[in-house]
Amino acid sequence: SKAVQGEAEFLFYSEEMNQRAKEHLRIESELRSALHNNELLLYYQPKVSLRSGRIVGAEALLRWKHPVRGMVSPGVFIPVAEETGLILELGNWVLEEACRQVRAWQDENLIMTPIAVNLSARQFDARLPERMADVMQRHGVLPEQLMLEITESLLVGGADNVISIMNELVAMGLALALDDFGTGYSSLAYLKKFPISTLKIDRSFVIGLPYEENDCAIARAIVTMAQQLRQEIVAEGVETAEQMSFLRELGCDQLQGYFFSPPVPPDDFAHMLREGKRLAFTSR
Ligand code: C2E
Ligand code: MG
Ligand code: MG
Ligand code: MG
Repeated sequence: SKAVQGEAEFLFYSEEMNQRAKEHLRIESELRSALHNNELLLYYQPKVSLRSGRIVGAEALLRWKHPVRGMVSPGVFIPVAEETGLILELGNWVLEEACRQVRAWQDENLIMTPIAVNLSARQFDARLPERMADVMQRHGVLPEQLMLEITESLLVGGADNVISIMNELVAMGLALALDDFGTGYSSLAYLKKFPISTLKIDRSFVIGLPYEENDCAIARAIVTMAQQLRQEIVAEGVETAEQMSFLRELGCDQLQGYFFSPPVPPDDFAHMLREGKRLAFTSR
Protein backbone atom coordinates (compact mmCIF):
# COMPACT_ATOMS: atom_id res chain seq x y z
CA SER A 1 0.00 0.00 0.00
CA LYS A 2 0.89 3.69 -0.13
CA ALA A 3 1.74 3.88 3.58
CA VAL A 4 4.21 1.01 3.40
CA GLN A 5 5.84 2.53 0.39
CA GLY A 6 6.18 5.81 2.32
CA GLU A 7 7.82 4.04 5.20
CA ALA A 8 10.31 2.36 2.89
CA GLU A 9 11.17 5.71 1.38
CA PHE A 10 11.64 7.19 4.81
CA LEU A 11 14.00 4.37 5.80
CA PHE A 12 15.87 4.81 2.56
CA TYR A 13 16.32 8.53 3.01
CA SER A 14 17.31 8.33 6.65
CA GLU A 15 19.92 5.70 5.79
CA GLU A 16 21.21 8.03 3.09
CA MET A 17 21.29 10.93 5.56
CA ASN A 18 23.15 8.76 8.02
CA GLN A 19 25.74 7.95 5.38
CA ARG A 20 26.13 11.61 4.58
CA ALA A 21 26.60 12.55 8.23
CA LYS A 22 29.31 9.87 8.54
CA GLU A 23 31.00 11.08 5.37
CA HIS A 24 30.85 14.63 6.69
CA LEU A 25 32.49 13.63 9.99
CA ARG A 26 35.18 11.70 8.16
CA ILE A 27 35.99 14.68 5.92
CA GLU A 28 36.06 16.98 8.93
CA SER A 29 38.56 14.92 10.90
CA GLU A 30 40.73 14.18 7.86
CA LEU A 31 40.72 17.84 6.89
CA ARG A 32 41.98 18.76 10.34
CA SER A 33 45.00 16.51 9.91
CA ALA A 34 45.44 17.61 6.29
CA LEU A 35 46.21 21.09 7.60
CA HIS A 36 49.11 19.77 9.65
CA ASN A 37 50.36 17.08 7.25
CA ASN A 38 51.12 19.28 4.25
CA GLU A 39 48.31 17.77 2.22
CA LEU A 40 47.00 21.19 1.10
CA LEU A 41 48.30 23.13 -1.85
CA LEU A 42 47.33 26.01 -4.08
CA TYR A 43 46.85 25.78 -7.82
CA TYR A 44 46.81 28.91 -9.97
CA GLN A 45 44.51 29.68 -12.87
CA PRO A 46 45.56 32.55 -15.14
CA LYS A 47 43.27 35.45 -16.01
CA VAL A 48 43.97 36.87 -19.47
CA SER A 49 43.24 40.25 -20.99
CA LEU A 50 40.79 40.16 -23.89
CA ARG A 51 42.53 43.21 -25.34
CA SER A 52 46.17 42.10 -25.27
CA GLY A 53 45.86 38.33 -24.86
CA ARG A 54 48.36 38.52 -22.00
CA ILE A 55 48.20 37.04 -18.51
CA VAL A 56 47.10 39.84 -16.18
CA GLY A 57 46.48 37.90 -13.00
CA ALA A 58 45.64 34.54 -11.52
CA GLU A 59 43.26 32.99 -9.01
CA ALA A 60 44.66 30.78 -6.25
CA LEU A 61 42.48 27.68 -5.82
CA LEU A 62 42.78 25.33 -2.88
CA ARG A 63 43.60 21.68 -3.51
CA TRP A 64 43.68 18.74 -1.10
CA LYS A 65 46.01 15.91 -1.99
CA HIS A 66 44.62 13.10 0.15
CA PRO A 67 47.17 10.30 0.82
CA VAL A 68 44.67 7.59 -0.15
CA ARG A 69 41.88 9.26 -2.09
CA GLY A 70 44.05 11.48 -4.27
CA MET A 71 42.92 14.98 -5.23
CA VAL A 72 39.75 15.95 -3.37
CA SER A 73 37.71 18.72 -4.99
CA PRO A 74 37.04 21.94 -3.06
CA GLY A 75 33.40 21.39 -4.01
CA VAL A 76 33.50 18.47 -1.55
CA PHE A 77 35.53 19.84 1.35
CA ILE A 78 34.86 23.63 1.33
CA PRO A 79 31.18 23.18 2.30
CA VAL A 80 32.23 20.91 5.21
CA ALA A 81 34.88 23.42 6.26
CA GLU A 82 32.28 26.22 6.10
CA GLU A 83 29.86 24.30 8.31
CA THR A 84 32.40 23.31 10.93
CA GLY A 85 34.24 26.63 11.08
CA LEU A 86 37.45 24.93 9.88
CA ILE A 87 37.28 27.39 6.98
CA LEU A 88 38.91 29.98 9.25
CA GLU A 89 42.05 27.88 9.66
CA LEU A 90 41.98 26.88 5.98
CA GLY A 91 41.50 30.52 4.98
CA ASN A 92 44.48 31.61 7.06
CA TRP A 93 46.59 28.84 5.54
CA VAL A 94 45.57 30.02 2.03
CA LEU A 95 46.51 33.65 2.79
CA GLU A 96 49.82 32.58 4.28
CA GLU A 97 50.68 30.28 1.37
CA ALA A 98 49.59 32.76 -1.34
CA CYS A 99 51.76 35.49 0.20
CA ARG A 100 54.71 33.11 0.59
CA GLN A 101 54.39 32.13 -3.08
CA VAL A 102 54.01 35.71 -4.34
CA ARG A 103 57.14 36.65 -2.44
CA ALA A 104 59.07 33.65 -3.79
CA TRP A 105 58.08 34.57 -7.37
CA GLN A 106 59.04 38.17 -6.79
CA ASP A 107 62.45 37.04 -5.54
CA GLU A 108 62.88 35.09 -8.80
CA ASN A 109 62.19 38.32 -10.70
CA LEU A 110 59.06 36.99 -12.37
CA ILE A 111 56.88 39.75 -13.78
CA MET A 112 54.16 39.45 -11.22
CA THR A 113 50.46 39.89 -11.78
CA PRO A 114 47.98 40.14 -8.88
CA ILE A 115 47.03 36.82 -7.27
CA ALA A 116 43.39 36.56 -6.20
CA VAL A 117 42.47 34.65 -3.07
CA ASN A 118 38.94 33.42 -2.29
CA LEU A 119 37.51 34.53 1.04
CA SER A 120 34.67 32.84 2.88
CA ALA A 121 32.02 35.11 4.39
CA ARG A 122 33.08 33.67 7.75
CA GLN A 123 36.55 35.17 7.35
CA PHE A 124 35.01 38.59 6.89
CA ASP A 125 35.15 39.97 10.41
CA ALA A 126 36.43 43.19 11.97
CA ARG A 127 39.92 41.71 12.44
CA LEU A 128 40.35 40.83 8.75
CA PRO A 129 42.11 44.10 7.74
CA GLU A 130 44.60 43.64 10.59
CA ARG A 131 45.17 39.99 9.61
CA MET A 132 45.75 41.02 5.98
CA ALA A 133 48.20 43.74 6.99
CA ASP A 134 50.07 41.27 9.19
CA VAL A 135 50.44 38.49 6.62
CA MET A 136 51.47 40.93 3.86
CA GLN A 137 54.00 42.62 6.11
CA ARG A 138 55.57 39.35 7.26
CA HIS A 139 56.07 38.18 3.67
CA GLY A 140 56.93 41.57 2.23
CA VAL A 141 53.98 41.52 -0.18
CA LEU A 142 52.32 44.71 -1.45
CA PRO A 143 48.52 45.07 -1.60
CA GLU A 144 48.68 45.54 -5.41
CA GLN A 145 50.08 42.01 -5.65
CA LEU A 146 46.91 40.52 -4.17
CA MET A 147 43.19 40.63 -4.79
CA LEU A 148 40.32 39.30 -2.67
CA GLU A 149 37.37 37.39 -4.14
CA ILE A 150 34.14 37.53 -2.16
CA THR A 151 30.65 36.25 -2.93
CA GLU A 152 27.25 37.88 -3.09
CA SER A 153 26.04 36.12 0.07
CA LEU A 154 28.29 38.46 2.01
CA LEU A 155 26.55 41.52 0.55
CA VAL A 156 23.01 40.24 0.77
CA GLY A 157 23.11 38.73 4.24
CA GLY A 158 25.35 41.68 4.97
CA ALA A 159 25.76 43.12 8.44
CA ASP A 160 26.39 46.90 8.45
CA ASN A 161 30.02 46.41 9.32
CA VAL A 162 30.64 44.56 6.04
CA ILE A 163 30.86 47.87 4.13
CA SER A 164 33.21 49.42 6.66
CA ILE A 165 35.50 46.34 6.63
CA MET A 166 35.53 46.51 2.82
CA ASN A 167 36.36 50.21 2.93
CA GLU A 168 39.23 49.50 5.30
CA LEU A 169 40.64 46.81 2.96
CA VAL A 170 40.32 49.12 -0.05
CA ALA A 171 41.98 51.96 1.87
CA MET A 172 44.90 49.59 2.47
CA GLY A 173 45.20 49.20 -1.31
CA LEU A 174 43.53 45.79 -1.67
CA ALA A 175 41.12 45.32 -4.58
CA LEU A 176 37.87 43.37 -4.13
CA ALA A 177 36.27 41.16 -6.77
CA LEU A 178 32.72 39.84 -6.62
CA ASP A 179 32.78 36.13 -7.49
CA ASP A 180 30.05 34.03 -9.16
CA PHE A 181 28.15 37.19 -10.09
CA GLY A 182 24.53 36.68 -11.12
CA THR A 183 23.90 33.61 -8.98
CA GLY A 184 22.93 35.55 -5.85
CA TYR A 185 20.29 38.17 -5.29
CA SER A 186 22.11 41.47 -5.50
CA SER A 187 21.13 43.89 -8.23
CA LEU A 188 23.66 46.09 -9.94
CA ALA A 189 22.09 49.17 -8.37
CA TYR A 190 22.66 47.58 -4.96
CA LEU A 191 26.27 46.90 -5.88
CA LYS A 192 27.03 50.61 -6.10
CA LYS A 193 27.10 50.74 -2.30
CA PHE A 194 30.11 48.43 -2.09
CA PRO A 195 33.70 49.31 -3.01
CA ILE A 196 34.06 46.46 -5.50
CA SER A 197 36.37 46.95 -8.47
CA THR A 198 35.80 43.71 -10.38
CA LEU A 199 32.79 41.55 -11.25
CA LYS A 200 33.23 37.92 -12.20
CA ILE A 201 30.39 36.66 -14.40
CA ASP A 202 29.48 33.18 -13.19
CA ARG A 203 30.29 30.21 -15.40
CA SER A 204 26.61 29.22 -15.57
CA PHE A 205 25.94 32.24 -17.84
CA VAL A 206 29.02 31.63 -19.96
CA ILE A 207 28.23 28.02 -20.82
CA GLY A 208 25.39 28.91 -23.23
CA LEU A 209 27.27 31.65 -25.14
CA PRO A 210 26.81 32.49 -27.98
CA TYR A 211 23.91 30.12 -28.75
CA GLU A 212 21.52 30.55 -25.79
CA GLU A 213 19.64 33.83 -26.20
CA ASN A 214 19.01 34.24 -22.47
CA ASP A 215 22.65 33.77 -21.54
CA CYS A 216 23.66 36.28 -24.21
CA ALA A 217 21.17 38.82 -22.86
CA ILE A 218 22.35 38.31 -19.27
CA ALA A 219 26.02 38.56 -20.21
CA ARG A 220 25.34 41.71 -22.26
CA ALA A 221 23.38 43.33 -19.41
CA ILE A 222 26.07 42.55 -16.83
CA VAL A 223 28.87 43.89 -19.03
CA THR A 224 26.97 47.07 -19.99
CA MET A 225 26.00 47.97 -16.45
CA ALA A 226 29.36 47.05 -14.94
CA GLN A 227 31.00 49.36 -17.48
CA GLN A 228 28.78 52.18 -16.25
CA LEU A 229 29.84 51.42 -12.68
CA ARG A 230 33.45 51.43 -13.96
CA GLN A 231 34.08 47.92 -12.78
CA GLU A 232 36.36 45.45 -14.52
CA ILE A 233 34.63 42.35 -15.82
CA VAL A 234 36.05 38.85 -15.74
CA ALA A 235 34.20 35.94 -17.38
CA GLU A 236 34.60 32.62 -15.55
CA GLY A 237 34.64 29.18 -17.11
CA VAL A 238 35.37 30.16 -20.71
CA GLU A 239 35.95 26.91 -22.59
CA THR A 240 35.51 27.67 -26.30
CA ALA A 241 36.73 30.10 -28.96
CA GLU A 242 33.09 31.05 -29.66
CA GLN A 243 32.51 32.06 -26.03
CA MET A 244 35.78 34.01 -26.05
CA SER A 245 34.91 35.93 -29.25
CA PHE A 246 31.43 36.77 -28.01
CA LEU A 247 32.74 38.10 -24.67
CA ARG A 248 35.46 40.04 -26.41
CA GLU A 249 32.95 41.74 -28.71
CA LEU A 250 30.79 42.60 -25.70
CA GLY A 251 33.72 44.46 -24.18
CA CYS A 252 34.44 42.06 -21.34
CA ASP A 253 37.92 42.79 -19.90
CA GLN A 254 39.33 39.43 -18.90
CA LEU A 255 38.66 35.75 -19.19
CA GLN A 256 39.46 32.81 -17.02
CA GLY A 257 38.76 29.26 -18.13
CA TYR A 258 39.93 26.00 -19.62
CA PHE A 259 40.07 27.64 -23.07
CA PHE A 260 43.24 29.36 -21.93
CA SER A 261 44.31 27.13 -19.03
CA PRO A 262 42.89 25.06 -16.16
CA PRO A 263 44.18 25.76 -12.65
CA VAL A 264 47.80 24.48 -12.58
CA PRO A 265 50.55 23.85 -10.01
CA PRO A 266 52.68 26.91 -9.15
CA ASP A 267 55.66 25.88 -11.30
CA ASP A 268 53.45 25.53 -14.38
CA PHE A 269 51.98 28.98 -13.80
CA ALA A 270 55.47 30.46 -13.39
CA HIS A 271 56.43 28.76 -16.66
CA MET A 272 53.49 30.40 -18.49
CA LEU A 273 54.55 33.80 -17.13
CA ARG A 274 58.16 33.27 -18.18
CA GLU A 275 57.22 32.08 -21.65
CA GLY A 276 54.76 34.95 -22.03
CA LYS A 277 51.98 32.53 -22.99
CA ARG A 278 49.31 34.44 -24.98
CA LEU A 279 45.66 33.94 -25.77
CA ALA A 280 45.17 33.01 -29.42
CA PHE A 281 42.41 35.21 -30.82
CA THR A 282 40.30 33.69 -33.55
CA SER A 283 37.67 35.57 -35.49
CA ARG A 284 34.10 34.38 -35.46
P1 C2E B 1 35.36 29.82 -7.78
O1 C2E B 1 36.06 30.76 -6.86
O2 C2E B 1 34.21 30.36 -8.57
O3 C2E B 1 36.49 29.22 -8.71
C1 C2E B 1 36.29 28.89 -10.06
C2 C2E B 1 36.08 27.41 -10.23
O4 C2E B 1 35.77 27.14 -11.59
C3 C2E B 1 37.30 26.56 -9.91
O5 C2E B 1 36.84 25.32 -9.37
C4 C2E B 1 37.90 26.33 -11.30
O6 C2E B 1 38.72 25.18 -11.37
C5 C2E B 1 36.66 26.17 -12.11
N1 C2E B 1 36.88 26.48 -13.53
C6 C2E B 1 37.68 27.44 -14.04
N2 C2E B 1 37.60 27.46 -15.38
C7 C2E B 1 36.73 26.50 -15.74
C8 C2E B 1 36.21 26.05 -17.01
O7 C2E B 1 36.55 26.54 -18.09
N3 C2E B 1 35.30 25.03 -16.98
C9 C2E B 1 34.88 24.46 -15.82
N4 C2E B 1 33.99 23.47 -15.89
N5 C2E B 1 35.35 24.87 -14.60
C10 C2E B 1 36.25 25.88 -14.57
P2 C2E B 1 37.50 24.66 -8.09
O8 C2E B 1 38.97 24.92 -8.08
O9 C2E B 1 37.00 23.26 -8.04
O10 C2E B 1 36.88 25.50 -6.90
C11 C2E B 1 35.51 25.49 -6.64
C12 C2E B 1 35.12 26.54 -5.65
O11 C2E B 1 35.68 26.24 -4.36
C13 C2E B 1 35.62 27.94 -5.99
O12 C2E B 1 34.79 28.54 -6.95
C14 C2E B 1 35.52 28.60 -4.62
O13 C2E B 1 34.21 29.00 -4.36
C15 C2E B 1 35.88 27.46 -3.69
N6 C2E B 1 37.30 27.61 -3.29
C16 C2E B 1 38.42 27.17 -3.92
N7 C2E B 1 39.52 27.54 -3.24
C17 C2E B 1 39.09 28.25 -2.16
C18 C2E B 1 39.75 28.91 -1.05
O14 C2E B 1 40.98 28.97 -0.95
N8 C2E B 1 38.94 29.52 -0.12
C19 C2E B 1 37.57 29.51 -0.22
N9 C2E B 1 36.84 30.13 0.74
N10 C2E B 1 36.93 28.91 -1.23
C20 C2E B 1 37.68 28.30 -2.19
MG1 MG C 1 36.86 32.62 -7.02
MG1 MG D 1 34.06 32.13 -9.34
MG1 MG E 1 31.83 30.12 -10.01
